[in-house]
Amino acid sequence: MENKRNTEQKRIILEALMHADHPTASELYESIRDENPRLSRATVFRVLGQFADDGVVRRLNLLGSDTRFDARTAPHAHCHCVRCGRLTDVFEGDFVPLFSCGEVAGYAVLSAEVEFSGLCPVCRGAEN
Ligand SMILES: [Zn+2]
Ligand SMILES: [Zn+2]
Repeated sequence: MENKRNTEQKRIILEALMHADHPTASELYESIRDENPRLSRATVFRVLGQFADDGVVRRLNLLGSDTRFDARTAPHAHCHCVRCGRLTDVFEGDFVPLFSCGEVAGYAVLSAEVEFSGLCPVCRGAEN
C-alpha cells in the first residue's frame, strides 16, 4: 500500500501548494500538518524537491529569501514587496518575451527568473 499512500501524500502537497502563495517548504508543511498529522516534515520537503526536479512546480530562489515553491509553471515574473514581503505574480508586460528568448550570450536558455522589488500597493498607501 506504500504506493497508494505516496500518491495521496503528493496530491495533498500539490493541492496545498496551488492554494498557497509561494510558500517555503516549511511554511507549506506548517499549513497542512494539522489536517494531515501523518505527513512528516521530511516527506513534504522531499516531495516538493521531487516536484521541482520533475518540472511539476517551480523552485524560486529569490533575493534574501529561503527557497520558495510555485505551482504556476507558466512563465511569469514576480514583484516582491521589500516592506511586507508580499510576492505577486505578473503574467503580462513588456518583459514577458524575455522568457521565450532561446539564446543569450551563447547559452541555450532553459529558464529565467525576473524579480522586481519595491513597495506593494498596500505599503505604498501607508506611505502617502
Ligand atoms: Zn507591502
Ligand atoms: Zn509565481
